Amino acid sequence: MLETLPNGFPSEALARIQPSATIAVTQKARELKAAGRDVIGLGAGEPDFDTPDNIKDAAIAAIRRGETKYTNVEGIAELRTAVAAKFKRENRLDYTPAQTFVAPGGKAIIYNALMATLNPGDEVVMPAPYWVSYPDIVLLAGAKPVIVQTRLEDGFRLAPDALERAITPKTKWLIFNQPSNPTGACYTRRQLQAIADVLLRHPQVWLLTDDMYEHLVYGGFEFHTVAEIEPRLYSRTVTMNGVSKAYAMTGWRIGYCGAPEPLIRAMAKLQSQSASNASSISQWAAVEALNGRQDFIPQFQKVFEERRNLVVSMLNQARGIECPKPEGAFYVYPSIRKLIGKATPQGQCIENDEHFVRELLESEGVAVVHGAAFGLSPFFRVSYATSTAALEEACRRIQRFCASLR
Ligand code: GLU
Repeated sequence: MLETLPNGFPSEALARIQPSATIAVTQKARELKAAGRDVIGLGAGEPDFDTPDNIKDAAIAAIRRGETKYTNVEGIAELRTAVAAKFKRENRLDYTPAQTFVAPGGKAIIYNALMATLNPGDEVVMPAPYWVSYPDIVLLAGAKPVIVQTRLEDGFRLAPDALERAITPKTKWLIFNQPSNPTGACYTRRQLQAIADVLLRHPQVWLLTDDMYEHLVYGGFEFHTVAEIEPRLYSRTVTMNGVSKAYAMTGWRIGYCGAPEPLIRAMAKLQSQSASNASSISQWAAVEALNGRQDFIPQFQKVFEERRNLVVSMLNQARGIECPKPEGAFYVYPSIRKLIGKATPQGQCIENDEHFVRELLESEGVAVVHGAAFGLSPFFRVSYATSTAALEEACRRIQRFCASLR
């Protein structure tokens, strides 16, 4: 344990943060499986599909060509051009290649942007439930996360008046993510405009929009990003995205963004003293992902939509669970309000969502992430990016577990 190390370890900055709960659950499920336990992991936020062959082939060709050296800190020119073209084609956003940046994963983009801009005392507003890493990166930078709660009844969407109340003269950023990890919530054009209108009244606030799940929307939902619908925010927006989710490339670690050039330069200064650059091979694979065939995206979408429908329906049949049906991502965020205070067959009282997920893993071997990790309890997050057969079995086990609570 870090706490027991000598010489004043850990640092004050490290002591302010928690390990990533999503990664911890994923790792735990992996370890239990390796130890021979029958565990179904619904913790990991990553597609179960394989990376498409054209992308793998591009990576292999890059290795054979000898593209195995350091690259520019900001990313290879070919990828930055592909990113700029992607923003134009899919989001009607004008970014020159010089206004783009590539990092080892979307998380590294967020990390670079926040570490390059935050001072102690600065505030960063984010709606809860939030993705686990946002508040901790803010804390690492010595700044203060300001959490705005949302409600299941509002589809977990940030209310513009609640955002307005959270903003102070010290607010530097709003971190905004849709389709949302962990709720799957999406915003229509009108709902985005209402958020943008608040930001227009507060020129000191920058917007970091995490669009990682852009392509995973269902039932004909149309995705828009804020800088596209409100060009007046463009000059203080970081539009973040990556290839992990849309192209099933989580392990390749490629995130990218579009942003004003001075911020790109600041992020490059930071990355030049940390990761240096994202893997050269992964960057070439990402060039093919963005420029190559896109026809498997609707196929992924169709499968995810069917799984979403299955999981929502089966979870709503579990006693005491209320599961809304979101428009996007591959997560659902069911409420276990009615199960708090109930007892397990062993006589243990379920006190909170962390306890619920621990007992669920223990008794039924289903790994999910507790809501407290995302800042809104009592809920849990289910990732349905796994096979339909495994999902059906996992939901049956959740139903059985809930039925066993008294
Ligand atoms: N974004 C995924 C998740 O939320 C990957 C794990 C992580 O980096 O948090 O599960």
